[in-house]
Amino acid sequence: MVSLSSRANGKPVFKKEVIMLDDHLFKLDLENRIIKLSTPNRRTVLEFYPAKHHEKFRDWRVGQAWLVRTPKGVFINVVFSKEVEIREPEAFVGVDLNENNVTLSLPNGEFVQIITHEREIRAGYFLKRRKIQKKIRAGKRRRELLEKYGERERNRLNDLYHKLTNKIVELAEKYGGIALEDLTEIRDSIRYSAEVNGRLHRWSFRKLQSIIEYKAKLKGIRVVFVNPAYTSSLCPVCGGKLSPNGDRVLKCSNCGFEADRDVIGSWNVRLRALKMWGVSVLPESQPMKTGGWKVSRNDIYELYANYG
Ligand SMILES: [Zn+2]
Repeated sequence: MVSLSSRANGKPVFKKEVIMLDDHLFKLDLENRIIKLSTPNRRTVLEFYPAKHHEKFRDWRVGQAWLVRTPKGVFINVVFSKEVEIREPEAFVGVDLNENNVTLSLPNGEFVQIITHEREIRAGYFLKRRKIQKKIRAGKRRRELLEKYGERERNRLNDLYHKLTNKIVELAEKYGGIALEDLTEIRDSIRYSAEVNGRLHRWSFRKLQSIIEYKAKLKGIRVVFVNPAYTSSLCPVCGGKLSPNGDRVLKCSNCGFEADRDVIGSWNVRLRALKMWGVSVLPESQPMKTGGWKVSRNDIYELYANYG
C-alpha cells in the first residue's frame, strides 16, 4: 500500500519520508520520463528528471522501488536487474590496489601501472577541511562547508574509481578473468598493519573492488578473490622470501629476482588465481632474468594529469 495521498492540485502529499513501492503500484516509463503511481484515491503521474545514467538501464528489469524525500527534493530509487552470462576465463589479470597506483599483471607477461593520485586528492581535501575548521567557528555554516567538501571528495573518488575500472575491464576483457585480493579475512594480516603505509584506505578498497566486480560482470568477466597473505613478501618466480632492496624494490634471497613491489604484488595475485582455478603455473616458474622487471613508461597511465 502506498501511503501517498493527493491534494486537490494534484501534488502528492507524503506522510512518510520513505515510501516503498510494490511493482504493481507503479510503472516506470523511461522513454517519457514519467512514473505512474497508484494511490488509494487515484492514479498519479509524476514527471521525473532522469539521473544521468538512466539510458543504460533501458532494457533492464525493474525491481523494487521506493520514493524518498530529502531536503533536495523527492527521489525515486529503483533497483534494476539484468541477467548476464559469465564466461569461462581463459586467464586472469592480477590486480594490486594501492593508494596512488593500481598495478596489473597481464597473462602475456606484461605489467601495467595506472597512476591514480588518490593520495594527493585525499591530502588536498584533508587540508581544505582543516582550514575550514581553523577559520570558521563551529556552527551551521562550518558544518555545511565540511559536508560540501566531503561530498565533493566522495564524488571525485567515485569518478576516479569508475574511470580506473573501465581501464581494468578493458584490459581484462579478452582474457575473461580478473583476480583481486580477498579482503574479508585480512583484518590482522601483515599487509594492513605493518605495511599499512601506501596501501589503499579500507573504505576505498571495498568501494573500488565492488565497482570492479560490478563492471566486470556486465562484460561477462569472472572475478575471483585470492588470499592476500604474503603477496608482497614471497618471490613469484621461486617462492623464496623477498627483502627490501631500495625504494619500493624487493629482492629474492633465494634466486636473486628483483622487481618493484607493486609488480610483484599483482603478479602473485594473478598466480594465485591460476592455482585456484586449477591452471598449471609451471611455465612461469622458470627463473627469469633478474633485475629486468620494471614497468616501462609506456605502460603507465596517468588517470589524472592534474588535480586540486
Ligand atoms: Zn626467487
